[in-house]
Amino acid sequence: MLAVTGWFALVLLLHLLLPGQLACGVQLPNRQRLTYKLNAFSVFAITYGTAAAVSFGLGVLDLSWIPRNFVPLTTAAIIFSSVLAVAVYAASFLPNRLLSQHGNSGIFVYDFWMGRELNPRAFGKTLDIKEFCELYPGMIGWGLLNLAFAYQQYKQLGYVTNAMLLVNGFELWYIADGLLNEAAILTTMDITTDGFGFMLAFGDLAWVPFTFCTQARYLTDYPRQLSLPALLGVLAVQALGYCIFRGANSQKNAFRTNPGHPSVAHLKSMPTERGTRLIISGWWGAARHINYLGDWLMGLAWCLPCGLSGLASVVPYFYCIYFAALLVHRERRDEAACRAKYGADWGRYCALVPWRIIPYVY
Ligand code: NDP
Repeated sequence: MLAVTGWFALVLLLHLLLPGQLACGVQLPNRQRLTYKLNAFSVFAITYGTAAAVSFGLGVLDLSWIPRNFVPLTTAAIIFSSVLAVAVYAASFLPNRLLSQHGNSGIFVYDFWMGRELNPRAFGKTLDIKEFCELYPGMIGWGLLNLAFAYQQYKQLGYVTNAMLLVNGFELWYIADGLLNEAAILTTMDITTDGFGFMLAFGDLAWVPFTFCTQARYLTDYPRQLSLPALLGVLAVQALGYCIFRGANSQKNAFRTNPGHPSVAHLKSMPTERGTRLIISGWWGAARHINYLGDWLMGLAWCLPCGLSGLASVVPYFYCIYFAALLVHRERRDEAACRAKYGADWGRYCALVPWRIIPYVY
């Protein structure tokens, strides 16, 4: 419990003390726009640098302590996130709180799960608890857990297998990319629409770090060395996924920020009564959530290094099975939200771009 609380406190302290770019969130239902301090990448660099220095340099910290205490650490993260969820739920009853549209039903279990308050803040409103939990302790902690499993494998075998290197490299790339593009989270559903309750507190602080490291954990118990063709195949899946994921997300961000920008000025788009245009060519002309396909393909590339043989090998595929379900559900939620936002224009858009996630398949 001390380790989990200490990790949360350390990351929080760094977030509060380190300088960061200030960014404005989208307009809220009360017409206000919140300011966010963005320094996730600096916190990530400092915590990883410090962990490497004190464990591999000074030899003071033994990273293999983490895999050896995985179950107690997971339990502590679940307790910690539950306590946080209770605290934000209780605080949501204080005066002048902006409540989330979906977490304000009056049914305790539902509201506790969905999150009653939209943007709970602390420390004189300088800390946005939801944005912090989404990107800082859990995401950064996930990469550190992976590193600890790689170190554990090194201690057991005397080397790190190429499968473990791929899993660590891919996932670290994903984490660093997400943290570097921190501002992009301000327009996601989680920040703009969902309240902060048990679902996000548990998801961000316990589920993400302790289940997303399953591949690295599996490879510690069942080490694998990939042949060159297998390695190249996995790299190709990752590269394809990344091109789609980053290409689509950057295209939409650039278009929403400045549709006249040379990188997106050539795209075809349709006007809507709401005032915002919808892209109908390029990545967004291929499928309405082509970015989800890219994300899922990357997830597949994180699982493939664990191999395909044997019954036990279903376990590391947990991530891409779970993620497929999450993305299909998320696409349905966004679709419903867009239909409400755009009305009849959304129907016209769907006729022009008929595929949901996978062109010609789904
Ligand atoms: P999206 O980035 O897909 O954004 C959806 C919004 O984009 C819509 O509500 C709409 O908002 C706008 N939009 C939709 N179609 C168009 C179009 N044709 N032209 C212009 N704008 C359009 O949503 P998410 O927040 O779900 O996903 C962001 C990324 O995060 C994805 O890549 C996803 O894979 C990833 N993600 C990862 C998770 C993980 O656990 N690893 C979990 C969830 C997401 P408007 O028109 O109002 O601008």
